[in-house]
Amino acid sequence: MGLSKTIWTNPSEYLRTVQPENPVLFFSPAALQAAARRFIDGFPGMVTYAVKTNPADVVIENLSAAGVRGFDVASPNEMRLIRRIAPDAAMHYNNPVRSRAEIAVAVEMGVKSYSVDSASELAKLIEMVPAEGCEISVRFKLPVAGAAYNFGAKFGATVELSAELLKTVAAAGFIPSLTFHPGTQCTDPHAWESYIRAAADIARAAGVTIARLNVGGGFPNHRLHGVLPQIEETFDLIDRVTDEAFGEDRPMLVCEPGRGIVGDAFTHAARVKAVRDGAHVFLNDGVYGALAELPLIGPIDRIEVTTPEGVKRQAEATPRIVFGPTCDSVDRIPGDVMLAEDIAEGDFVVFHGMGAYSLATNTRFNGFGELTVATVLSLSL
Ligand SMILES: *Cc1c(COP(=O)(O)O)cnc(C)c1O
Repeated sequence: MGLSKTIWTNPSEYLRTVQPENPVLFFSPAALQAAARRFIDGFPGMVTYAVKTNPADVVIENLSAAGVRGFDVASPNEMRLIRRIAPDAAMHYNNPVRSRAEIAVAVEMGVKSYSVDSASELAKLIEMVPAEGCEISVRFKLPVAGAAYNFGAKFGATVELSAELLKTVAAAGFIPSLTFHPGTQCTDPHAWESYIRAAADIARAAGVTIARLNVGGGFPNHRLHGVLPQIEETFDLIDRVTDEAFGEDRPMLVCEPGRGIVGDAFTHAARVKAVRDGAHVFLNDGVYGALAELPLIGPIDRIEVTTPEGVKRQAEATPRIVFGPTCDSVDRIPGDVMLAEDIAEGDFVVFHGMGAYSLATNTRFNGFGELTVATVLSLSL
């Protein structure tokens, strides 16, 4: 054999040539860079990327190349990753609960932006982090609306506590800011509206002019055929509501998308291990692997089936029960999955829009979970 190929034309070329027995994530650098530029060009403020969503080196490299200059980091390991690949980028340490050892690493690495949602964690930051030129954003929450997943159950101070924390931040000499996370896969742009208005109320109640408002992640990716992400509409709404709510005291805006940037830059392919007695489909990947998010966030219907030769099956789609490879009965893709009726052992099931929370949360449970990332020029079969 000659040199092995490292960039493929599209998923079908790879599937028919390699016949992979383990699941594959196909990565399109062009799609990722285009998504990043869509945010940079359209969002009325600074665009940062939430590293946890997909921390692959190639993702951070391509985002840097596309012009992303800031990263939301949750741990010392994510800080080391960013320092290694994008040493000049800003790091926003927006995991609001940290051990003292973690705070010490952040200070050492030059982190200048932190978020907080409690008095006890704020006291730790005030004690350990030099205030000069350093931002602390108070993270607040509201009762949930419009999100596929409730982030507020774990993090976020009430509106009342947030005003108190904001006063304390300003009094301690830090740059006072506010932040929230509206949830994830927020397909309705209005998910942001009440948060932005509440932020203005909190700042007013505290008597503090905030420097920045971080409107979180939560931007959707394309999971359902009929539901196109309304990214520009969301940017417009954020811009307009910030003006209305803050008037003269308008803060600079920051966003920290994960899914909205990386989600549609990867396509996943799993192989059909068996069609048991003509009924249930068993794949070589499931909810302990790269499909971990499907039970949490809801289905993806951008699914295609190809033969081992990489030819798309054209038969009408019918509902199937689909299981993953482990011996655990929860390892099932929720609901009925619509798959070409003539699906057969050895075929590949291709899920589009799989860049977020797939590579990052894949486990080795039952000895499965070996996952290949293959670079492609185009994600279309
Ligand atoms: C997870 C997370 C994000 C990214 O969320 P997406 O829904 O993937 O955009 C952004 N900010 C914080 C603080 C997070 O925890």
